[in-house]
Amino acid sequence: MAQLAQMPHVSVVFNSRIESVSQTSDSVSVQTRQEDGLHSVQADYLVGADGAWSAVRTQLGIAFEGYTYPERFLVVSTPFEFADHMPQLSYVNYCSDPQEWCVLLRVPTLWRVLFPTKEDETDDQVLTDASIQARLHRLLPQPQNYTLVHRTLYKVHQRVAQQFRAGRVFLAGDAAHINNPLGGMGMNGGVHDAMNLCEKLLGVLQHGAPESSLDLYEKQRRTIAIEYINASTARNKKEIEERDPVLRQKNHDELRALAADPASSLAYLRKTSMIDALERAKALT
Ligand SMILES: Cc1cc2nc3c(=O)[nH]c(=O)nc-3n(C[C@H](O)[C@H](O)[C@H](O)COP(=O)(O)OP(=O)(O)OC[C@H]3O[C@@H](n4cnc5c(N)ncnc54)[C@H](O)[C@@H]3O)c2cc1C
Repeated sequence: MAQLAQMPHVSVVFNSRIESVSQTSDSVSVQTRQEDGLHSVQADYLVGADGAWSAVRTQLGIAFEGYTYPERFLVVSTPFEFADHMPQLSYVNYCSDPQEWCVLLRVPTLWRVLFPTKEDETDDQVLTDASIQARLHRLLPQPQNYTLVHRTLYKVHQRVAQQFRAGRVFLAGDAAHINNPLGGMGMNGGVHDAMNLCEKLLGVLQHGAPESSLDLYEKQRRTIAIEYINASTARNKKEIEERDPVLRQKNHDELRALAADPASSLAYLRKTSMIDALERAKALT
């Protein structure tokens, strides 16, 4: 990627909003809005890495197929040291619970806690101090209130763009695929998109590879977005929120069996760390 960024014909659009995109068979033009008005940037190729609400994807009329979960996710951050009260806490903890599952994530100076919300709670109800304190106290009852330093409520989607390439324009990262955060695959998947696409663009721009070699980007990365990223995160959500006691027991038994068997643990880690996904993509030619 660094190699690509050093090339003279690569422009990175910072501090300006892409408003429109057009292309011919030779080049792509982007209109951007900056403080002093509209500017035009012309390039051989355009990579739309402009997030879930991608203007590039919208401009190209590419459908973002999938669904939005009915409930929203609440993320709160607190300096409270959960590790002093919950033995064997890891830096990333997925806590399955039939009433209210959660994720406990250690960031450098805080614990970040993610909860699902109920469909019939309004945003205002979810975000009140009282409601957040109640959720945290259900997780770990404390004599005092928790200190809260951040709260966010957001919608969660499982969506993959219908195309990752349209002529000279490519989509990558959240512009191409979004998913729930259970499994930590969104940003990692975006980084894998960037690595894959940069390798192919370098092939064409520097090493004379045919234009058609760029088609492989969509074949490889869209397949992974559907088969691995979307499928795994959707499955993780289903498992963490499972309420049926028989199915919960079955899930727990399977996880214990995995942990007890080194070969199965390794295979599981290769899947969750997305190493398998990289190899699967490479095998698609
Ligand atoms: C609570 C939570 C936890 C997560 N945990 C993990 C995790 O553990 N592991 C993981 O891999 N992923 C995780 N993710 C997902 C991860 O945050 C995203 O997948 C990642 O940030 C997407 O990066 P991106 O660069 O594709 O998009 P973004 O980070 O959305 O960046 C898009 C950029 O494009 C810019 N932009 C937008 N519109 C325009 C425009 N019109 N013109 C110009 N620029 C524009 C934006 O300003 C922004 O800078 C999590 C997400 C959430 C919400």
